[in-house]
Amino acid sequence: MSISELSSGSARASESGTASYRLVIHGGAGTILKENMTPEKEQAYRAKLEEALKAGQAVLADGGAALDAVTAAIHIMEDSPLFNAGKGAVFTHEGRNEMDASIMDGRDLNAGAVAGVTRIKNPIDLAREVMENSRHVMLAGGGAEEFAVERGMDLVNPDYFRTQRRWDQLQNALKKGELSLDHTEEDFDVIEGVDPEDPDHKFGTVGAVALDVHGNLAAGTSTGGMTNKRYNRIGDSPVIGAGTYADNNSCGVSATGHGEFFIRATVARSICALMEYKGLSLQDAADEIIMKKLVKMGGEGGIIALDHAGNISMTFNTPGMYRGYITGEGKPAVHIYKN
Ligand code: ASP
Repeated sequence: MSISELSSGSARASESGTASYRLVIHGGAGTILKENMTPEKEQAYRAKLEEALKAGQAVLADGGAALDAVTAAIHIMEDSPLFNAGKGAVFTHEGRNEMDASIMDGRDLNAGAVAGVTRIKNPIDLAREVMENSRHVMLAGGGAEEFAVERGMDLVNPDYFRTQRRWDQLQNALKKGELSLDHTEEDFDVIEGVDPEDPDHKFGTVGAVALDVHGNLAAGTSTGGMTNKRYNRIGDSPVIGAGTYADNNSCGVSATGHGEFFIRATVARSICALMEYKGLSLQDAADEIIMKKLVKMGGEGGIIALDHAGNISMTFNTPGMYRGYITGEGKPAVHIYKN
């Protein structure tokens, strides 16, 4: 088993382990630099990532299913205002929180996703309901919420998701957006609030991939999307094959980054397909897509992934990515910056 981390300009690190279950998580990639972080803020992120890993570990240690571990870890991050998912989701242009999520079962390629939901406390739960209790893969907006009610899920007041920090980020993005008259690619970035020079330039989506003691893989992703998004824009996170993919024959992947690029590069599925059809190792497949293909396209972000043999990859082409993993009974390992 190897654990590889590759980010732009960083070296690869490997270590070995013997435990039979694994969990890897992310809390978003982007311009995450130590100089912009206070020790308190860094500590808060580290503690929350550890808590999410331990929640998943508790499930896996008990012989529980990879799907349950993924859900347990994502719940912790959705419920925390630190991440752009569930509580603390970013705001749309109109000042709403519209969330997307998806989940996939590597045993049978079953998958579920929701897009543009505004009243579901834990969108990952609704994605799972779609996977397990509907004949569909993806439901959107009001219809998805109608389905949630039919399944007995409680709806929350949209105010639940609101945080001042995200509101201020929207106001900043709106101010910058007002300056641009033309829709050049550069302006598009400003309108979307993803100016790469901005310390707020972070993709705070959350995701998890697990391998259970039964040898099954599962992956899930949950997000508020991108600040200042408009026209019911939907990113890669709920798109199976782009933001999320899992197949016991190859690997499980959860992505974070500029969704339009991740959709066009079918990031998650491409990594698994390179393993399945071309025999690449997990890390070589991740490098091919994140460090070569996406970089050429101008797409920023990263992935976490696990293959059927338990190899872990955390690969990103941004300055940082909130991320961590556990291997069996081991202590959680958490990282934020390029190592
Ligand atoms: N990938 C997400 C999106 O484009 C954003 C993120 O990763 O934070 O909606």
